[in-house]
Amino acid sequence: MVSRTIPVDPFDLVIFGGTGDLARRKILPSLYRRYVAGQMPPDSRVIGAARTEATSEEYRDQIRSAMEEFLSPAKRDAASVEDFLRHVHYVQIDATGDTGWDDLKTLVRQDRINAFYFSVAPSLFGAIAERLHDRGIANAESRIVVEKPFGKDLETARKLNATLATYFTEQQIYRIDHYLGKETVQNLMAIRFANILFEPLWKTEYIDHVQITVAETVGVDGRGAYYDTSGAMRDMVQNHLMQLLCLIAMEPPYHFDPDAVRDEKLKVIRALEPVRPEDIVRGQYLAGGGKQGYREDAENPDSRTESYIALKAGIANWRWKNTPFYLRTGKRLRARTSEIAVFFRRPPHSIFDDPEGGRENVLVIRLQPNEGINLKVMIKEPGPGGMRLTQVPLDMSFAQALGPDGSDIPDAYERLVMDVIRGNQTLFMRGDEVEAAWAWADPIIQGWEARGDRPHSYEPATSGPEDALMLLHRDGRRWREIKE
Ligand code: NAD
Repeated sequence: MVSRTIPVDPFDLVIFGGTGDLARRKILPSLYRRYVAGQMPPDSRVIGAARTEATSEEYRDQIRSAMEEFLSPAKRDAASVEDFLRHVHYVQIDATGDTGWDDLKTLVRQDRINAFYFSVAPSLFGAIAERLHDRGIANAESRIVVEKPFGKDLETARKLNATLATYFTEQQIYRIDHYLGKETVQNLMAIRFANILFEPLWKTEYIDHVQITVAETVGVDGRGAYYDTSGAMRDMVQNHLMQLLCLIAMEPPYHFDPDAVRDEKLKVIRALEPVRPEDIVRGQYLAGGGKQGYREDAENPDSRTESYIALKAGIANWRWKNTPFYLRTGKRLRARTSEIAVFFRRPPHSIFDDPEGGRENVLVIRLQPNEGINLKVMIKEPGPGGMRLTQVPLDMSFAQALGPDGSDIPDAYERLVMDVIRGNQTLFMRGDEVEAAWAWADPIIQGWEARGDRPHSYEPATSGPEDALMLLHRDGRRWREIKE
């Protein structure tokens, strides 16, 4: 299957923090891939802007080696990397001072789409927004892209929204949650709203519960000191897992239009019930397998920050009143896997003697690895031995279904950066959505802080603390196994 590529108008994209990890690992390789796909018009430009002193030529050298480091040989070739690099420029800039801003102003053309990607620490967002605006580098059509974390609680998120709103309208602000750029996540909407099959069953009468799992094998090594001020709730649940929950739970929007979709997501967040302390399990990984434990990684022997969290969320509306959403995410777990599992209720009556006859259907949407969808259905076990039943997966791996090079699923950043250029905000978080998510998360965090709760320890390469199992056992349910 040949993927369709819709060209965009010529653009200038400025990446603040252009020498940083995110720019080198994700943003520039993604732009290169779009360039190769023919989506970047010939005279478009990518302008790295960062504190480091470098010429454009030296910057291109950096980006060339980033391509080699972060793109597999199958995804790049030397000649097209050189072609792409002709579009790349560099400006040395001080976000909080005067250096470089005149150079940037000279470089950025005002007669075309321009976008400014803030791939820097959030403490610099305000200074950059102010300078772009006050020095006339950005105009009323410009777009700004801001990375996570968007605040650390409701108050800081509100302040950040207010700061950005001083210089840019909401239509100009693109708050990235890269989970929304993942193909399977977008597919969730296609599956729900482009098929008649699921939507009639998509409610508490037919869905028993939902499990959302984002498991990582890595620890926090390298960025432990930062992570220790955040934790899994702020770093993953308030944003990524929340977005997944919204896409599962939202009502059908009237149109696939940015505000229509985001209005529906916002309603879900506002309908979330407060989470009871007994419905939260937090954990910290221990040392093992030759690696340090969380507290050593965090350089904080008394840390109470969680590297794992599992919780049970409820949505107080007609569609979901009796369907819990169990969320869990953690580091140093057994496997790197992200999935959403929708457990349907059991058939009300089994006509078969086989006890298997009463099993539930499960729809599993795998985000990684091996993106795809899997529906567990009951069939008759083959053979003459009577009517025995067995559960089999109807399995669709996108890599297999989408053609010979199915592994060529675009990276989330490819999609999102191009959406910024296209001016499509559907897959970006609106300011009120982010604030509503913090308004839900804040009391949960404040609760465990006030109680002085300590996270449970868990062995690395497991599925997390034992107590997390109880969260479901208590309700007569079981987590899906965490495995590759
Ligand atoms: P980094 O530390 O690797 O890079 C920071 C960049 O900012 C560098 O290019 C540096 O030169 C520039 N910079 C710092 N101070 C500056 C100043 N005063 N003026 C101009 N430039 C300055 O950081 P990163 O990992 O690339 O992260 C950037 C942003 O993206 C952060 O907000 C981070 O939270 C977010 N983010 C990163 C990742 C990731 O995987 N790295 C993932 C999600 C979000």
